[in-house]
Amino acid sequence: MFKQRLFTPGPTPVPEEVLLELARPIFHHRTNEYRKMLEQVTTDMKYVMGTSEDVYTITGSGSAAMEAAVACVVAPGEKMIAVRGGKFGERWSELGAAFGAKVINMDIEWGDAATPREIADALKANPDTVAVYITQCETSTATVSDVEAIAKVVAGTPALLVVDGISSIGAIPFKMDAWGVDIAVTGSQKALMLPPGLGFIACSKKAWKKIDATKGHAYYVDLKAYRKALAPPEWDNPYTPANLMVRAAMKALAMIRAEGIEKIWAETHRKAEAIRAAAKALGLKVYSSAPSDSVTAILVPEGVDGEALVKTMVKDYGVRPAGGQGKLKGKVARFTTMGYTDAWDILAAVGALELTLAKLGYKVQIGAGVAAAMKVFAS
Ligand SMILES: *Cc1c(COP(=O)(O)O)cnc(C)c1O
Repeated sequence: MFKQRLFTPGPTPVPEEVLLELARPIFHHRTNEYRKMLEQVTTDMKYVMGTSEDVYTITGSGSAAMEAAVACVVAPGEKMIAVRGGKFGERWSELGAAFGAKVINMDIEWGDAATPREIADALKANPDTVAVYITQCETSTATVSDVEAIAKVVAGTPALLVVDGISSIGAIPFKMDAWGVDIAVTGSQKALMLPPGLGFIACSKKAWKKIDATKGHAYYVDLKAYRKALAPPEWDNPYTPANLMVRAAMKALAMIRAEGIEKIWAETHRKAEAIRAAAKALGLKVYSSAPSDSVTAILVPEGVDGEALVKTMVKDYGVRPAGGQGKLKGKVARFTTMGYTDAWDILAAVGALELTLAKLGYKVQIGAGVAAAMKVFAS
């Protein structure tokens, strides 16, 4: 029998003490008890996102925060640029279309990151752009973008920079204020050691100016309602929040604070280095020209069925990576290094990958990947 080990890039493992918060008694949310919790979660999320702006907690998955970042910002007929290099860049584009925006799709090769130069050119060609929508870590291709450099380009224009940080914020460096990001969104189930159920969003002063000037289309994700409800000393949500999740978030964020965000970034990097070293030692390639530290996509070698690989890892070894999405279906196996995963988890994943590859007829030197990963952790 094997323990079930989750390596999907969302949901990710959740510590027992966080899960137990969900089992403790329910309570009413229009109370000082809840207000104190939301104040703490807001404060800790500001720390995680690197901002002095308030962070709004939305009950809903990360996509709810993405929806707010489109519906409240771009009026029908206004222009937005969506960088599309994978499933989640496509989501920005689809959200724009759903809310009547004039969407300029900036298509890039899957596995590549958009360059600041390409963004600058797109803005020059479309000077009436209201906002540029990017994805820090495109989870479907495990590719990271240089948000800091892109923010520098966008800052010099009237456009806002909106970043989907759902699979990056809390795992790899992200500094909303220092980099000049206008809107950042994330979700609970990726890097924050929580189950799915909460979305988070923060807006710069430049972003608020646009939001206040825009007749948005949102009701449930209307950011103005969230701002009004949160405004100290209220510390409230406009609608019934997932209050047990907020209590769990308080616990998870306290653990993140105790560890220190920079230490977590460094650990994420090491775990990703270990997986990449293991892949190399096994003669496998890492997909992406700019691999993210928060999730690694390993190309399934010729002659091996990618879906069978994932299935066998789950069924025979209890290790669950994610397969490929869209055009990468069957071609990659993706392993998260976010949240509550440690060095030993990585060794388990690599070990199961080796045994599975051998089972599926691919020549591996059993232990070579684990040894390479161990060397990274030893260094
Ligand atoms: C998971 C993910 C999403 C979608 O978030 P949900 O919580 O599933 O709505 C969006 N963007 C990125 C980059 C993601 O990794």
